[in-house]
Amino acid sequence: MNRPVSVGIVGGGMAGLTCAVQLAQRGIASTIFDKGRGPGGRMATRRIAAGNREISFDHGAQYFTARDPAFIAVCRTWQAEGVIAPWPAAGSEAWIGVPGMNAPLRHMAGGLDVRWGTRADSVSREGALWQVRTGDTAHYFDRLVAAVPAEQAAVLLADAAPEIARRAAAVRSDPCWAVMALFDQPIDIAADVVRDDGAPIPWAARNGAKPGREGAESWVIQGSPKYSSEVLERTPRDICPMMLAQLFDQVGVAPVEPVHCAAHRWRYARVPAVAEPETGQDLGDIAIWNGEIALGAAGDWLAGPRVESAFLSGRALAELIAQDVSSRFMEPQE
Ligand SMILES: Cc1cc2nc3c(=O)[nH]c(=O)nc-3n(C[C@H](O)[C@H](O)[C@H](O)COP(=O)(O)OP(=O)(O)OC[C@H]3O[C@@H](n4cnc5c(N)ncnc54)[C@H](O)[C@@H]3O)c2cc1C
Repeated sequence: MNRPVSVGIVGGGMAGLTCAVQLAQRGIASTIFDKGRGPGGRMATRRIAAGNREISFDHGAQYFTARDPAFIAVCRTWQAEGVIAPWPAAGSEAWIGVPGMNAPLRHMAGGLDVRWGTRADSVSREGALWQVRTGDTAHYFDRLVAAVPAEQAAVLLADAAPEIARRAAAVRSDPCWAVMALFDQPIDIAADVVRDDGAPIPWAARNGAKPGREGAESWVIQGSPKYSSEVLERTPRDICPMMLAQLFDQVGVAPVEPVHCAAHRWRYARVPAVAEPETGQDLGDIAIWNGEIALGAAGDWLAGPRVESAFLSGRALAELIAQDVSSRFMEPQE
Protein backbone atom coordinates (compact mmCIF):
# COMPACT_ATOMS: atom_id res chain seq x y z
CA MET A 1 0.00 0.00 0.00
CA ASN A 2 1.32 3.45 -0.87
CA ARG A 3 1.53 6.18 1.77
CA PRO A 4 1.52 9.88 0.98
CA VAL A 5 4.87 11.54 0.39
CA SER A 6 5.92 13.88 3.18
CA VAL A 7 7.91 17.04 2.50
CA GLY A 8 9.62 19.18 5.12
CA ILE A 9 10.35 22.79 4.20
CA VAL A 10 12.74 24.94 6.22
CA GLY A 11 11.92 28.61 5.61
CA GLY A 12 8.47 30.17 5.20
CA GLY A 13 9.34 33.24 3.12
CA MET A 14 8.07 33.78 -0.41
CA ALA A 15 10.12 30.87 -1.80
CA GLY A 16 9.21 28.30 0.86
CA LEU A 17 5.50 29.14 1.02
CA THR A 18 5.20 29.26 -2.78
CA CYS A 19 6.82 25.83 -2.94
CA ALA A 20 4.35 24.52 -0.33
CA VAL A 21 1.30 26.02 -2.08
CA GLN A 22 2.37 24.62 -5.44
CA LEU A 23 3.02 21.19 -3.91
CA ALA A 24 -0.42 21.26 -2.29
CA GLN A 25 -1.97 22.05 -5.68
CA ARG A 26 -0.31 18.85 -6.91
CA GLY A 27 -1.67 16.85 -3.97
CA ILE A 28 1.58 16.79 -1.97
CA ALA A 29 1.38 17.92 1.67
CA SER A 30 4.25 19.65 3.42
CA THR A 31 5.22 20.97 6.83
CA ILE A 32 6.97 24.33 6.95
CA PHE A 33 9.27 25.45 9.77
CA ASP A 34 10.07 29.13 10.16
CA LYS A 35 12.00 30.72 12.97
CA GLY A 36 10.07 33.99 12.61
CA ARG A 37 7.17 34.71 14.97
CA GLY A 38 4.87 35.17 11.98
CA PRO A 39 4.88 35.52 8.21
CA GLY A 40 7.42 37.91 6.72
CA GLY A 41 10.94 36.79 6.08
CA ARG A 42 12.42 39.64 4.09
CA MET A 43 8.87 40.85 3.29
CA ALA A 44 8.52 41.78 6.92
CA THR A 45 6.03 44.13 8.57
CA ARG A 46 6.65 45.44 12.09
CA ARG A 47 3.81 46.85 14.20
CA ILE A 48 4.29 49.25 17.09
CA ALA A 49 1.84 50.74 19.59
CA ALA A 50 1.75 54.53 19.33
CA GLY A 51 -0.70 55.98 21.84
CA ASN A 52 -4.03 54.32 21.17
CA ARG A 53 -3.04 53.38 17.62
CA GLU A 54 -1.06 50.57 16.05
CA ILE A 55 1.36 51.70 13.36
CA SER A 56 2.99 49.36 10.87
CA PHE A 57 6.28 49.62 9.00
CA ASP A 58 7.35 47.51 6.03
CA HIS A 59 11.01 47.42 6.87
CA GLY A 60 12.12 44.77 4.36
CA ALA A 61 11.02 44.68 0.71
CA GLN A 62 9.22 47.93 -0.12
CA TYR A 63 7.22 46.73 -3.10
CA PHE A 64 7.51 44.12 -5.81
CA THR A 65 7.00 43.85 -9.53
CA ALA A 66 5.56 41.03 -11.63
CA ARG A 67 6.92 40.24 -15.09
CA ASP A 68 6.55 36.48 -15.45
CA PRO A 69 3.08 35.42 -16.65
CA ALA A 70 2.71 32.90 -13.81
CA PHE A 71 3.50 35.52 -11.16
CA ILE A 72 1.30 38.09 -12.89
CA ALA A 73 -1.59 35.60 -12.72
CA VAL A 74 -1.03 34.97 -9.00
CA CYS A 75 -0.80 38.72 -8.36
CA ARG A 76 -4.13 39.26 -10.13
CA THR A 77 -5.70 36.64 -7.84
CA TRP A 78 -4.16 38.23 -4.74
CA GLN A 79 -5.40 41.63 -5.89
CA ALA A 80 -8.95 40.27 -6.33
CA GLU A 81 -8.73 38.82 -2.81
CA GLY A 82 -7.57 42.16 -1.39
CA VAL A 83 -4.18 40.82 -0.34
CA ILE A 84 -2.11 43.14 -2.52
CA ALA A 85 -2.69 46.50 -4.19
CA PRO A 86 -0.87 48.67 -6.70
CA TRP A 87 1.27 51.44 -5.24
CA PRO A 88 1.62 54.05 -7.98
CA ALA A 89 3.98 56.20 -5.88
CA ALA A 90 6.69 53.58 -6.45
CA GLY A 91 5.99 53.10 -10.15
CA SER A 92 3.31 51.91 -12.51
CA GLU A 93 4.24 48.23 -11.95
CA ALA A 94 4.66 48.30 -8.17
CA TRP A 95 2.61 46.00 -5.92
CA ILE A 96 2.46 45.98 -2.14
CA GLY A 97 0.90 43.68 0.43
CA VAL A 98 -2.24 45.01 2.18
CA PRO A 99 -2.47 45.87 5.04
CA GLY A 100 1.24 45.02 5.37
CA MET A 101 3.92 43.75 3.03
CA ASN A 102 3.69 40.30 4.61
CA ALA A 103 -0.01 39.92 3.63
CA PRO A 104 0.53 37.59 0.65
CA LEU A 105 2.65 35.32 2.85
CA ARG A 106 0.01 35.28 5.59
CA HIS A 107 -2.56 34.48 2.91
CA MET A 108 -0.55 31.54 1.54
CA ALA A 109 0.25 30.22 5.01
CA GLY A 110 -3.45 30.14 5.89
CA GLY A 111 -4.03 26.84 4.13
CA LEU A 112 -0.76 25.19 5.12
CA ASP A 113 0.85 23.42 8.08
CA VAL A 114 3.30 26.15 9.12
CA ARG A 115 5.15 26.05 12.42
CA TRP A 116 6.06 29.68 13.18
CA GLY A 117 8.64 30.46 15.80
CA THR A 118 10.29 27.10 15.09
CA ARG A 119 13.93 27.13 14.09
CA ALA A 120 15.37 24.11 12.30
CA ASP A 121 18.55 23.63 14.31
CA SER A 122 19.90 20.87 12.07
CA VAL A 123 18.95 18.58 9.22
CA SER A 124 20.39 15.12 8.61
CA ARG A 125 19.77 12.06 6.50
CA GLU A 126 18.58 9.10 8.61
CA GLY A 127 18.29 6.06 6.37
CA ALA A 128 15.79 6.91 3.65
CA LEU A 129 14.35 9.84 5.57
CA TRP A 130 15.34 13.40 6.42
CA GLN A 131 15.38 14.42 10.03
CA VAL A 132 14.70 18.05 10.95
CA ARG A 133 15.60 18.90 14.54
CA THR A 134 13.74 21.73 16.21
CA GLY A 135 14.84 22.01 19.82
CA ASP A 136 14.34 18.58 21.42
CA THR A 137 11.96 17.38 18.73
CA ALA A 138 12.87 15.35 15.65
CA HIS A 139 10.61 15.45 12.58
CA TYR A 140 10.96 13.01 9.68
CA PHE A 141 10.22 13.54 6.00
CA ASP A 142 10.69 11.74 2.69
CA ARG A 143 11.91 14.92 1.04
CA LEU A 144 13.47 18.10 2.33
CA VAL A 145 13.53 21.67 1.06
CA ALA A 146 15.84 24.43 2.28
CA ALA A 147 14.16 27.76 1.46
CA VAL A 148 16.36 29.99 3.58
CA PRO A 149 18.77 32.78 2.57
CA ALA A 150 22.06 31.62 1.02
CA GLU A 151 24.18 32.38 4.06
CA GLN A 152 21.83 30.33 6.27
CA ALA A 153 21.58 27.50 3.70
CA ALA A 154 25.38 27.28 3.74
CA VAL A 155 25.31 26.59 7.49
CA LEU A 156 22.18 24.40 7.59
CA LEU A 157 23.36 22.10 4.77
CA ALA A 158 27.10 22.06 5.54
CA ASP A 159 27.14 18.43 6.75
CA ALA A 160 24.05 17.02 5.02
CA ALA A 161 24.67 18.39 1.52
CA PRO A 162 28.15 19.92 1.28
CA GLU A 163 27.95 20.62 -2.46
CA ILE A 164 24.78 22.71 -2.17
CA ALA A 165 26.20 24.35 0.96
CA ARG A 166 29.34 25.36 -0.94
CA ARG A 167 27.25 26.88 -3.72
CA ALA A 168 25.25 28.84 -1.15
CA ALA A 169 28.40 29.92 0.68
CA ALA A 170 29.70 31.54 -2.52
CA VAL A 171 26.79 34.03 -2.54
CA ARG A 172 27.58 37.47 -1.13
CA SER A 173 24.44 39.39 -0.16
CA ASP A 174 24.44 43.13 0.47
CA PRO A 175 23.43 44.39 3.93
CA CYS A 176 20.80 47.06 4.51
CA TRP A 177 20.05 49.18 7.56
CA ALA A 178 16.37 50.14 7.64
CA VAL A 179 15.13 52.94 9.90
CA MET A 180 11.46 53.15 10.96
CA ALA A 181 10.52 56.65 12.09
CA LEU A 182 7.17 58.03 13.24
CA PHE A 183 6.50 61.79 13.35
CA ASP A 184 3.62 63.49 15.11
CA GLN A 185 3.04 65.89 12.22
CA PRO A 186 3.68 65.84 8.46
CA ILE A 187 7.29 66.50 7.54
CA ASP A 188 8.16 68.82 4.71
CA ILE A 189 8.77 66.20 2.02
CA ALA A 190 6.09 66.37 -0.67
CA ALA A 191 6.70 63.04 -2.42
CA ASP A 192 5.76 59.76 -0.72
CA VAL A 193 8.85 58.12 -2.23
CA VAL A 194 12.32 59.62 -2.24
CA ARG A 195 14.81 57.89 -4.56
CA ASP A 196 18.41 58.97 -4.82
CA ASP A 197 20.50 56.25 -6.48
CA GLY A 198 24.12 56.45 -5.47
CA ALA A 199 23.40 58.45 -2.28
CA PRO A 200 23.87 56.99 1.23
CA ILE A 201 20.05 56.92 1.49
CA PRO A 202 18.86 55.72 -1.93
CA TRP A 203 15.30 55.07 -0.74
CA ALA A 204 12.88 56.57 1.77
CA ALA A 205 9.11 56.17 1.74
CA ARG A 206 6.13 57.49 3.63
CA ASN A 207 4.90 54.09 4.81
CA GLY A 208 1.65 55.48 6.19
CA ALA A 209 0.65 56.71 2.73
CA LYS A 210 0.71 53.25 1.17
CA PRO A 211 -2.74 51.86 0.31
CA GLY A 212 -4.40 50.17 3.28
CA ARG A 213 -2.14 51.76 5.93
CA GLU A 214 -3.03 53.93 8.90
CA GLY A 215 -2.26 57.28 7.25
CA ALA A 216 0.33 58.08 9.92
CA GLU A 217 3.42 60.15 9.20
CA SER A 218 5.60 57.04 9.32
CA TRP A 219 8.73 56.62 7.21
CA VAL A 220 10.97 53.74 6.23
CA ILE A 221 14.48 54.85 5.33
CA GLN A 222 17.03 52.46 3.80
CA GLY A 223 20.79 52.78 3.69
CA SER A 224 22.67 51.89 0.50
CA PRO A 225 24.77 48.70 0.49
CA LYS A 226 27.95 50.81 0.76
CA TYR A 227 26.65 53.02 3.57
CA SER A 228 25.09 50.07 5.42
CA SER A 229 28.37 48.12 5.18
CA GLU A 230 30.35 51.04 6.57
CA VAL A 231 28.11 51.35 9.64
CA LEU A 232 27.09 47.70 9.91
CA GLU A 233 28.30 47.12 13.45
CA ARG A 234 26.86 50.34 14.91
CA THR A 235 23.88 50.01 17.25
CA PRO A 236 20.28 50.86 16.27
CA ARG A 237 20.53 53.71 18.79
CA ASP A 238 23.38 55.22 16.75
CA ILE A 239 21.82 54.44 13.38
CA CYS A 240 18.47 56.20 13.91
CA PRO A 241 19.79 59.77 14.31
CA MET A 242 22.57 59.23 11.74
CA MET A 243 20.27 58.07 8.97
CA LEU A 244 17.55 60.60 9.76
CA ALA A 245 20.13 63.42 9.61
CA GLN A 246 21.44 61.99 6.34
CA LEU A 247 17.94 61.89 4.82
CA PHE A 248 17.09 65.46 5.85
CA ASP A 249 20.45 66.59 4.48
CA GLN A 250 19.86 64.81 1.17
CA VAL A 251 16.40 66.33 0.65
CA GLY A 252 17.41 69.77 1.99
CA VAL A 253 14.78 69.88 4.74
CA ALA A 254 15.33 71.07 8.33
CA PRO A 255 15.61 68.04 10.65
CA VAL A 256 12.52 67.02 12.63
CA GLU A 257 12.59 64.83 15.76
CA PRO A 258 10.56 61.62 15.45
CA VAL A 259 8.28 60.49 18.28
CA HIS A 260 9.38 56.92 17.68
CA CYS A 261 12.43 55.55 15.89
CA ALA A 262 13.80 52.03 15.48
CA ALA A 263 16.37 50.50 13.19
CA HIS A 264 16.66 47.00 11.78
CA ARG A 265 19.87 45.59 10.38
CA TRP A 266 19.44 43.19 7.49
CA ARG A 267 22.82 41.53 7.38
CA TYR A 268 21.89 39.65 4.22
CA ALA A 269 19.31 41.81 2.49
CA ARG A 270 19.72 41.39 -1.23
CA VAL A 271 21.61 38.91 -3.37
CA PRO A 272 23.63 40.12 -6.36
CA ALA A 273 21.62 40.84 -9.49
CA VAL A 274 22.65 37.72 -11.39
CA ALA A 275 20.62 35.00 -13.06
CA GLU A 276 17.42 37.05 -13.25
CA PRO A 277 14.66 34.60 -14.20
CA GLU A 278 13.29 34.74 -17.69
CA THR A 279 10.31 32.89 -19.00
CA GLY A 280 11.48 29.71 -20.66
CA GLN A 281 14.42 29.03 -18.36
CA ASP A 282 14.98 25.47 -17.19
CA LEU A 283 13.54 24.77 -13.74
CA GLY A 284 17.00 23.70 -12.59
CA ASP A 285 18.40 27.14 -13.42
CA ILE A 286 16.45 28.79 -10.60
CA ALA A 287 16.07 25.97 -8.05
CA ILE A 288 18.13 22.97 -6.95
CA TRP A 289 16.77 19.44 -6.76
CA ASN A 290 18.97 16.44 -5.98
CA GLY A 291 16.79 13.37 -6.46
CA GLU A 292 19.48 10.97 -5.16
CA ILE A 293 19.34 12.45 -1.67
CA ALA A 294 15.78 13.85 -1.96
CA LEU A 295 16.89 17.38 -1.12
CA GLY A 296 16.06 20.69 -2.75
CA ALA A 297 16.81 24.37 -2.32
CA ALA A 298 14.90 27.46 -3.39
CA GLY A 299 15.16 31.17 -2.75
CA ASP A 300 16.14 34.46 -4.24
CA TRP A 301 19.82 33.47 -4.13
CA LEU A 302 19.12 31.03 -6.96
CA ALA A 303 17.02 33.32 -9.13
CA GLY A 304 17.71 37.03 -8.48
CA PRO A 305 17.27 39.73 -5.82
CA ARG A 306 13.51 40.17 -5.98
CA VAL A 307 10.30 38.89 -4.44
CA GLU A 308 9.26 37.60 -7.86
CA SER A 309 12.52 35.65 -8.17
CA ALA A 310 11.83 33.93 -4.84
CA PHE A 311 8.33 33.05 -6.07
CA LEU A 312 9.66 31.62 -9.34
CA SER A 313 12.33 29.62 -7.53
CA GLY A 314 9.84 28.11 -5.07
CA ARG A 315 7.47 27.30 -7.90
CA ALA A 316 10.23 25.66 -9.95
CA LEU A 317 11.27 23.50 -7.00
CA ALA A 318 7.69 22.31 -6.42
CA GLU A 319 7.53 21.23 -10.06
CA LEU A 320 10.85 19.38 -9.77
CA ILE A 321 9.67 17.59 -6.62
CA ALA A 322 6.34 16.68 -8.23
CA GLN A 323 8.18 15.23 -11.22
CA ASP A 324 10.40 13.25 -8.87
CA VAL A 325 7.45 11.95 -6.84
CA SER A 326 5.50 10.86 -9.88
CA SER A 327 8.54 9.00 -11.21
CA ARG A 328 9.01 6.86 -8.08
CA PHE A 329 7.03 4.24 -6.21
CA MET A 330 6.83 4.96 -2.47
CA GLU A 331 7.39 1.95 -0.22
CA PRO A 332 4.87 1.45 2.59
CA GLN A 333 5.90 2.88 5.97
CA GLU A 334 7.02 0.29 8.58
C1 LIG B 1 15.66 45.78 3.07
C2 LIG B 1 15.18 44.97 1.89
C3 LIG B 1 14.60 45.60 0.80
C4 LIG B 1 14.17 44.86 -0.30
N1 LIG B 1 13.53 45.48 -1.31
C5 LIG B 1 12.96 44.76 -2.29
C6 LIG B 1 12.15 45.37 -3.26
O1 LIG B 1 11.89 46.59 -3.20
N2 LIG B 1 11.60 44.60 -4.25
C7 LIG B 1 11.81 43.25 -4.30
O2 LIG B 1 11.27 42.58 -5.19
N3 LIG B 1 12.59 42.63 -3.38
C8 LIG B 1 13.15 43.34 -2.38
N4 LIG B 1 13.90 42.72 -1.43
C9 LIG B 1 14.25 41.31 -1.61
C10 LIG B 1 13.11 40.35 -1.26
O3 LIG B 1 12.56 40.70 0.00
C11 LIG B 1 13.67 38.93 -1.20
O4 LIG B 1 14.32 38.65 -2.44
C12 LIG B 1 12.61 37.85 -0.99
O5 LIG B 1 11.67 38.23 -0.01
C13 LIG B 1 13.33 36.57 -0.58
O6 LIG B 1 12.41 35.54 -0.27
P1 LIG B 1 12.99 34.13 0.23
O7 LIG B 1 11.83 33.28 0.51
O8 LIG B 1 14.01 33.66 -0.74
O9 LIG B 1 13.79 34.47 1.57
P2 LIG B 1 13.29 35.06 2.97
O10 LIG B 1 12.21 36.04 2.78
O11 LIG B 1 14.52 35.52 3.67
O12 LIG B 1 12.67 33.79 3.72
C14 LIG B 1 13.49 32.85 4.37
C15 LIG B 1 12.80 32.41 5.65
O13 LIG B 1 13.61 31.40 6.25
C16 LIG B 1 13.49 31.52 7.65
N5 LIG B 1 14.64 30.80 8.22
C17 LIG B 1 15.96 31.02 8.02
N6 LIG B 1 16.69 30.10 8.67
C18 LIG B 1 15.81 29.27 9.30
C19 LIG B 1 15.95 28.11 10.13
N7 LIG B 1 17.14 27.59 10.45
N8 LIG B 1 14.82 27.52 10.60
C20 LIG B 1 13.60 28.02 10.31
N9 LIG B 1 13.42 29.11 9.52
C21 LIG B 1 14.51 29.71 9.02
C22 LIG B 1 13.46 33.01 7.89
O14 LIG B 1 12.82 33.32 9.13
C23 LIG B 1 12.66 33.51 6.69
O15 LIG B 1 11.28 33.69 7.00
C24 LIG B 1 14.34 43.45 -0.32
C25 LIG B 1 14.90 42.82 0.80
C26 LIG B 1 15.31 43.56 1.89
C27 LIG B 1 15.86 42.86 3.10
